[in-house]
Amino acid sequence: MQKGNISVQTENIFPIIKKFLYADQEIFLRELIANAIDATTKLKLLANKGELKNEIGDTTLEIILNEEAKTLTIRDKGIGMSEEEVLKYLNQIAFSSASEWLDKFKDDASIIGHFGLGFYSAFMVADKVEVNTKSWRPKSKAVQWTCTGSPEYELADIKKKDRGTDIVLHIGEEGKEFLDKNRIEELLTKYCRFLPVPIKFGTRKEWEGEGDDKVETEVDNIINNPTPAWKKNPSELSEEDYQSFYKELHPFSGDSMFHIHLNIDYPFNLTGILYFPKLSNSFEVQRNKIQLYCNQVYVTDDVKEIVPEWLTLLHGVIDSPDIPLNVSRSYLQSDSNVRKITGYITKKVADKLHELFKKDRNAFEEKWKDLGVFVKYGFISDEKFAEKAQKFLLLQNCKDEYAVLDEYVEKIKATQTNKYDKTIILYTNNKEQHDLYIKNATDAGYDVVLLDTMIDNHFIQQLEYKRQDISFKRVDSDTIDNLIEKDEKQESVLNEKEEEKVKGVFEKLTEGKGNVTIQVKSLSPDSPPVQITRPEFMRRMKEMQAMNGMNLGEMPDSYNLTVNANHPLVAKKLLAAKGKKQGELAEYFFNLALLHQNMLTGSDLTEFIYKSLEMVK
Ligand code: ADP
Repeated sequence: MQKGNISVQTENIFPIIKKFLYADQEIFLRELIANAIDATTKLKLLANKGELKNEIGDTTLEIILNEEAKTLTIRDKGIGMSEEEVLKYLNQIAFSSASEWLDKFKDDASIIGHFGLGFYSAFMVADKVEVNTKSWRPKSKAVQWTCTGSPEYELADIKKKDRGTDIVLHIGEEGKEFLDKNRIEELLTKYCRFLPVPIKFGTRKEWEGEGDDKVETEVDNIINNPTPAWKKNPSELSEEDYQSFYKELHPFSGDSMFHIHLNIDYPFNLTGILYFPKLSNSFEVQRNKIQLYCNQVYVTDDVKEIVPEWLTLLHGVIDSPDIPLNVSRSYLQSDSNVRKITGYITKKVADKLHELFKKDRNAFEEKWKDLGVFVKYGFISDEKFAEKAQKFLLLQNCKDEYAVLDEYVEKIKATQTNKYDKTIILYTNNKEQHDLYIKNATDAGYDVVLLDTMIDNHFIQQLEYKRQDISFKRVDSDTIDNLIEKDEKQESVLNEKEEEKVKGVFEKLTEGKGNVTIQVKSLSPDSPPVQITRPEFMRRMKEMQAMNGMNLGEMPDSYNLTVNANHPLVAKKLLAAKGKKQGELAEYFFNLALLHQNMLTGSDLTEFIYKSLEMVK
């Protein structure tokens, strides 16, 4: 037996390891399993090169929990270590990497868990670590390295038949939760689900055979899927394969709409599959559903720094050894690889959408309800995506017809361009509520699009900013001829004095009813006598305020009240009426306008109906 001291600068690294990593103790298992996988992969490489004399045999990893002995063993059949290697790798390399790590990240606890400090993380949970190992090289003798968490170690020859390494953790008081089978199973599912080598954790019972011959047998409990879909070639996978992998990843999500298989090896290495969930007009879909892997080792499901915010609406997996996991978050955002990855994913997503659009436009339109929010979100957030999205960004009108933005503008240009050469896109956010306004617009030969998702305000703003030739107006924001101002002017049947008089009647009526601007205008005799509209600009400001959760409070809600001078009832009845009767008539028109706006409700509505009956009597 050999005894010695591990050469380190810091005598007391173990207490530091334990203290610093307490919060993320559980990563020890991932670290040790990752080492075991590495050792197995290296062995396979040797075998491929023909350096291995014997058959490689079964390389299944084993996790063995012994509650009574209070041990947890990670067993691999990989390359193993010779005595020299144990001394070199465990005493020197592992130790120096551990102390280096601690030096570097003492002040940044936030990154803990994103990567570990390798072998020495074992001491977070174990009072004693035993490494029993035998190298792959012919005639190697097996050795045991033991360390109790002080800089002292012991090295002894042992008998070990098989090639490979057993890491035996004698779990201490601080790690006792890891003596629980369920807890280990949970960790294995979290970190090891898609590791490339089968991992066995005990056995489970399974029924085999058919009918009466059915027998219960004990089979190895393999906890991982060593060949996950993203590592396969897309040509090997059917649509069902993709859907079933989606279910494997996110058991509680419904079907996804479609997927993108990512695969790139230059200038960085990245594989993965992204799925489009059904969004149905909302952001309620759960985020943090993209998982980040590094060579099939689970790293995190918090990918904010790697994937732009709007893409986190997607689900799936990204696997890249080129994302630096051992650096702090703020650094990640400025990392050039990460930026390239972001750009690549964005491009892939845009290309996929464009391809789907070109391949089957009808199907694409049918999916627009679920896709629209996502595309608009991307349009707002990402310049490059916005550029590409113009080719498949759809507008849907109230007749459920779809058109790409450019097509749409082309379609309405002749009728909906105003005298300032701006093409006005009329829209509603609520077809039922704006029923009458939409009818007015349609009667005037205009088209109205439906923009009813919560992101549409921002979307409109962004589009107007990008395209100076178009402007959006909600159908209820003005009278028809004001929404799209043309040069032609209707003659008024009233003279100036009469118009003043009409205005006066309504001023008196709306006194104390808020911020109302009254105009008398010569509209078509078919337009309603009085219209109440809410100016586009004012309304948008309010909406933005509400969206951003601001409460400026003071901003008054203002309305425009437009009296149609050419409406026969205004010209004849209202002007002719005297005293109280005139006031009542004005109120009647006013209420009628409120009714249009769906603003007359409850007892006010009942009262209005009774008064109307009185009037026709
Ligand atoms: P890292 O894995 O980052 O190199 P570790 O501290 O985890 O650092 O491990 C140090 C070294 O010990 C490894 O590089 C490897 O050579 C060796 N090692 C650790 N675990 C095993 C194992 N199960 N089989 C063979 N070698 C191992």
